Amino acid sequence: VSTRRTPVSERVPVREDLAAVQPYGAPQVDAPVRLNTNETPYPPPPSFVANLRERIGTLDLHRYPDREHGMLRAALAHRFGLGYDRVWAANGSNEILAQLHQAYGGPGRTVLGTRPGFAALPTIARTTATAHAELPLDDAYRVDVDTAVEAVTAHRPHLVCLARPNNPTGVSVALEVVRALHDASEALIVLDEAYAEFAADDALPLLGELPRLVITRTFSKAFRLAGVRLGYLLGPEWVVDDLHKVRLPYHLDAMTQTAGVVACELADEVTGHIGAIVAERERLAGRLRQLPGVTVSPSDANFLLVHVAADGVFDGLLARGVLVRDFSSAPGLQGCVRITVGTAEECDAAVAALADLLGSEL
Ligand code: PMP
Repeated sequence: VSTRRTPVSERVPVREDLAAVQPYGAPQVDAPVRLNTNETPYPPPPSFVANLRERIGTLDLHRYPDREHGMLRAALAHRFGLGYDRVWAANGSNEILAQLHQAYGGPGRTVLGTRPGFAALPTIARTTATAHAELPLDDAYRVDVDTAVEAVTAHRPHLVCLARPNNPTGVSVALEVVRALHDASEALIVLDEAYAEFAADDALPLLGELPRLVITRTFSKAFRLAGVRLGYLLGPEWVVDDLHKVRLPYHLDAMTQTAGVVACELADEVTGHIGAIVAERERLAGRLRQLPGVTVSPSDANFLLVHVAADGVFDGLLARGVLVRDFSSAPGLQGCVRITVGTAEECDAAVAALADLLGSEL
């Protein structure tokens, strides 16, 4: 296998605005304890796997899938009590966010996102040539109404994208802030609820109230199906119509559609672990707070943002077999790592590794 790198002079130059871009993504390192990408530590239940295997066996894989992914949209519509024409799905909620940028962003348009916020958003904005403006958070990582109204007035965005709860902070946005953003702008308000199933509340009631609101969700976290790549959108029917204009032909494959249908049918079993994760989150937060120099933000999600008054925390934990997500040099997050809530054993391993690194007794 050749390892030769083609000299720059022999390449087709990539778009100028992409030249300096680093591909988005957390390092995929094979550590014994992987708490870095907010997956669920438990695999989907055997009933789901058996059902999916059987259903996949009946698919006509020599035919293109249903372009309208009708069974999946019907299952989601039923789950949320919405019309079929208000539901849309794609390969992960990341793809939905990209489609929303393709449809409503682009050259000459702006998306407003929080800082700190979901790290993939600026990348999606850049690849779709959408200007990315930042809505600052307060010291507790909250958005306040005045700052929100000021930001939409100043930037006049076509899109406002907020993760609720936010990643990597775990902090939610108050519903009155969402209303204020909506009413003070003409933007499509996108609430990215990738972690909503772990939170105290969700924004579903706002769907009937705010005409320019969409909610995106995922099967990657609470539905334990990160390997499937499936996310969905709930919103007004005109948004679903517009997304048809940017989706690739047959964008959602038949096996993924089937996995989503089965997950909806068996939703109670597939999401049966959520209570355990929420309880474990609080136990982990309590144990981490006992360590010297460690501050933990309250979290509504399946991860914790942890500030440690020490250097080299990410590398030190990795050296002890625990992979977390490093934000220590990210703007507004200096000294922070994000720890996904794993099994009790994994969380104990993370606490023990951090205590060892800090030279503290447990
Ligand atoms: N939104 C947020 C806030 C996330 O943290 C993630 C996953 N890291 C996603 C969206 C993407 O999820 P999916 O796997 O559905 O693309």
